[in-house]
Amino acid sequence: RVPDLTVPDFLLRMADERPDAPAVIDAPSGRTLTYAELRRDVRRCAIGLRRRGLRVGDVLAIVAPNSPEWLVACLGAMAAGGCVSGINPLYTADEIAPQLRDHGARHVLTIPPFLPLVRAAAAGVVEPDVLVVGQAEGATSFADVLADGADGELPAGLVDPAADLALLPYSSGTTGLAKGVMLTHRAIVTNIEQMQTALDQTAEDRAIAVAPFFHAVGLNVVAGVTLRSGGTLVTLPRFDVDAYLGAIATYRATLAVVVPPIVLAMARHPAVDRHDLSSLRLVGCGAAPLGADLQQECAARVGCPVGQGYGMTEAVAAITLVDTAEPVVPGSAGVLLPGVEARIVDIMTGEDLPAGETGELRVRGPQLMAGYLGNLDATAATIDADGWLHTGDLARFDTDGNLFVDDRLKELVKVKGLQVAPAELEAVLRTHPGVADAAVIPVPDERAGERPKAVVVAAGPVTAAEIVDHVASRVAPHKRITEVAFVDAIPVSPSGKILRRLLVAQDRAGALPAVAEP
Ligand code: ATP
Ligand code: MG
Repeated sequence: RVPDLTVPDFLLRMADERPDAPAVIDAPSGRTLTYAELRRDVRRCAIGLRRRGLRVGDVLAIVAPNSPEWLVACLGAMAAGGCVSGINPLYTADEIAPQLRDHGARHVLTIPPFLPLVRAAAAGVVEPDVLVVGQAEGATSFADVLADGADGELPAGLVDPAADLALLPYSSGTTGLAKGVMLTHRAIVTNIEQMQTALDQTAEDRAIAVAPFFHAVGLNVVAGVTLRSGGTLVTLPRFDVDAYLGAIATYRATLAVVVPPIVLAMARHPAVDRHDLSSLRLVGCGAAPLGADLQQECAARVGCPVGQGYGMTEAVAAITLVDTAEPVVPGSAGVLLPGVEARIVDIMTGEDLPAGETGELRVRGPQLMAGYLGNLDATAATIDADGWLHTGDLARFDTDGNLFVDDRLKELVKVKGLQVAPAELEAVLRTHPGVADAAVIPVPDERAGERPKAVVVAAGPVTAAEIVDHVASRVAPHKRITEVAFVDAIPVSPSGKILRRLLVAQDRAGALPAVAEP
């Protein structure tokens, strides 16, 4: 059963039980908000925003790195009936403008360095009330909004948790244009409760929030479940290996919930030896494919289990999570959360497939989105009339209910009519000692239609021929790599996804020539 509460009321229940426990700590400064202080500031923010005209259904956009204020503003706006849309602060003005136009944000919260970006994105699109954490000319300080809300009341029954939207995150835009995902208070509370059941977090848990709050992993998995459990959340504004591992050591973090590039760093980066990571009880990874080899390499190095979860913005955050009561199954994205149903469907015939067979994953459950904002066609194409969400991911379940995700249907390489998952080849490539990181993209081929091409970051002296042989000895003939290009870095999104479409565009423009040696 899910409590009939708004997201802020649900997450701040601990302010009664543990008022003086630390809720949120800003890692760079050490500044701490207790649960009582967090609840006080959320309330002040809600009243302050109402005084600035925010009404039920209005959007607060947040263009800022992770900080305690991000959460105060987010929960405060939700308490006032607002809907929060986190925006990637590394986006350009041209990328932010369509999102502002889409939801017509009435209020925007940012920090002084991003003020010019926000102004440029809003110009000619919306005229929002701009709030800044800190001081900047021509913008209202967020501290003044809180001070203004120090007295006064919020009207009772302002928000209907089952119907009113609380979040409007945008999907990562990995495969195309990012879409605004409408999530009610009820959907978010449900998914946080489902995730809590699987992760069994307690008030003793401490998590470092390094995954960005504008994405589901950072906001709902890390912040949501930690606050729900009365634990402590430590916010980091950006990922830097030493700063992140240092925060784990300083704050004796028990959980590291991250995305695959950070698992790669935790498995291979020399910085790992400089920090005491002995407090960790679990590393959780999601948002993109992670091979079993790298998962086990990371677990051995860090000294605690590394488990995976699978999810998508359209389901708030998670659909499956590692079962912490059982030994980790390497390569698996975990088991279905309570209340979630799943089917694996043949991609040609649409027929249901039994356990062990691979097809499109479809899911149904109480945490699904209300739809895409202003896009009925995309909504209808994603959630069918019977409530099944077509994930667009190729996956299978084993007979114990462990999910294995191959890759996105859209990104499969089609070799002579056979489907090759880039993620499988990327995992094989990363097992070569001369490969620091890798991506696989399709290249057109006269005879085969398409062939997989490796884009590799070399970790030392290695030749293309060695890489080709390494893969050839480990996969079926049609999956063999025939070309290798060497690059300095693989482009990834802030949510840890390899941006293969950028590499494909570079390749088509001739910028990724196949070479014999790096
Ligand atoms: P867009 O829909 O805009 O192209 P996106 O799908 O990357 O972007 P998200 O909602 O952040 O946006 O990501 C969900 C997707 O991430 C899933 O559909 C799946 O492809 C991938 N994913 C999530 N978790 C895992 C996992 N454990 N293993 C493999 N893939 C995963
Ligand atoms: Mg998607």
